[in-house]
Amino acid sequence: MQRMLNDAASFREEMIDGYATAYRRFLRRVPNASGVIARGAPRPGRVSVVVGGGSGHYPAFYGLVGEGMATAAAIGDVFTSPSGEQAYRVAKAADGGAGVLFTFGNYSGDVMNFGMAEGRLRAEGTDARTVLVTDDVLSARPEEAHRRRGIAGGFYVFKTAGASAARGDSLETVEALTRRANDRVRTAGIAFAGCTIPGQSEPLFTVAPGQMEIGLGIHGEPGVRIAEQVPAKEIAALLVETLLAEAPAGGGSRGEVAVLVNGLGGTKYEEMFVLYSGVAPLLERAGLKVHETQIGEFVTALDMAGCSLTLLWLDDDLKPLHDATAASPAYTRIGPDGERAGFFAGAEATSEEAEAETGTAEAVEEAAGGAAGEAARAALREALAAIRAAEAELGRLDAAAGDGDHGAGMVRGFKAASDAVEGFGGTARQSFTRGGTAFQDAAGGASGALVGAFLMAVGGALPATDDEVDARAYAAAFAAGVATIQRHGGAQPGDKTMIDTLAPFVTALAEAASRGLGLAEAWAEALPAARGGMVATASMTPKVGRASRLGDRAVGFQDPGATSMYEVLMAFGRAFGGEMV
Ligand code: ADP
Ligand code: MG
Repeated sequence: MQRMLNDAASFREEMIDGYATAYRRFLRRVPNASGVIARGAPRPGRVSVVVGGGSGHYPAFYGLVGEGMATAAAIGDVFTSPSGEQAYRVAKAADGGAGVLFTFGNYSGDVMNFGMAEGRLRAEGTDARTVLVTDDVLSARPEEAHRRRGIAGGFYVFKTAGASAARGDSLETVEALTRRANDRVRTAGIAFAGCTIPGQSEPLFTVAPGQMEIGLGIHGEPGVRIAEQVPAKEIAALLVETLLAEAPAGGGSRGEVAVLVNGLGGTKYEEMFVLYSGVAPLLERAGLKVHETQIGEFVTALDMAGCSLTLLWLDDDLKPLHDATAASPAYTRIGPDGERAGFFAGAEATSEEAEAETGTAEAVEEAAGGAAGEAARAALREALAAIRAAEAELGRLDAAAGDGDHGAGMVRGFKAASDAVEGFGGTARQSFTRGGTAFQDAAGGASGALVGAFLMAVGGALPATDDEVDARAYAAAFAAGVATIQRHGGAQPGDKTMIDTLAPFVTALAEAASRGLGLAEAWAEALPAARGGMVATASMTPKVGRASRLGDRAVGFQDPGATSMYEVLMAFGRAFGGEMV
């Protein structure tokens, strides 16, 4: 398929530029960050609502920034969460002193990166909180509703948060109402065909002719089960029944609902109208009163064909927030309060401060590196070359159960890490710290947060002077790195992640180092343990991360993160001077 793009690497930046220029009546770019902020924001004393996630989902999430909607959005690469650094900068620019509410879909990459931003804001004394969107009823059983992912129902969650913040509610209230909206919203979807990431030739998954996937991932993750395609009327019945079976406590099948039919990018509005002609009578028959219906694209997955149905069970608190006036590029509603004074008030008062530099100052460090520093920088360069060579294969492995971005994310990370230490003369400790920071900022996604944190932890645990860097020091530093990944990601060996490569490697490296071997020899001796761990992931069922939603459907595929970390370990070994297999 023909795509409009200049260069995949600059796609996100150019996209934000075009968008912010076109819609400057609603918003502007956040300086030095991949994000946009509503005109006139931050408003002193108002809670700020920060949304975000990967791109490829427009109008989620940045289409919903504006008056009465989200205050700001952090924007990641296609299907990749923004980095913690980017999320922090956007939130910092949005903070008006009354606190920040983050709200975004429940995906591990987003959870980790926004979590880091939240942690930094809190450490600085800003009250920051998070409400995860978990509306996708088909992504986990009711007993595990907190593990569900966020899809089109996020629209109502963001709208609730934005309306509550706009009328001046406290952070406690905004958080509580946003949580209530998420507790009372349910979505079920189907897909007829997968989607293709710009720059790639194959779709992330395919659906055989005459079939459909029940349940859908908005990152091209396949559905939870395959069924024969049926007429629109039967799809309507399937979706309505699925949602009614999950009506929130107190909602029952009685009451008032807001209804959203969402197209995923490759389904026409006319088809959705046909679907709704089947949905409306079923809702009425079930005793539900439809307060208002939206039909259109609210959360897309590039060009995926398919749609979802969302119900928000309204109550006396949620209804006025649903009805409140909102104005954003992708959604505008004139509510009963539309005439209120102050609509767009302050919009012209774009504060100088908000335009000012929001980045963090780079630490000035003493650079007094020796041979170990040189080797550390060579390790990052070698890792980039190895990951580049494996990029397509890593993408394929990730597409099997995830979203296909693992190769691209790792290349972005190691490219940034290598560039950050180019011409740097520091120690191994400083080089890994610097490289890891750049990695985390550039890569995004679950692996960006984790591998970036890993490299930083390795750096932080290495000795301060290069003379003391040996096999034992690396064994200790890598152990610290693995502990950091586990602390952030919560994975255990056997969960089918990069830990399965790294943990046995670290044990073997420590053992070899304890026998007094040099770095290159110890490294070479430890690699087979890493390889064994990597290969073993093929038969494992994923327990954490994006792939865990698919359970057994991921069995048979080697874990992408375990595979890339093995490439990295081999590359490091080459840089440390060993003969690697
Ligand atoms: P995303 O899931 O955000 O798309 P990537 O595709 O870049 O991120 O990376 C996926 C890999 O990240 C997985 O193959 C797995 O090895 C690793 N991973 C995901 N979640 C975790 C976690 N909680 N702990 C350790 N590793 C994880
Ligand atoms: Mg992925």
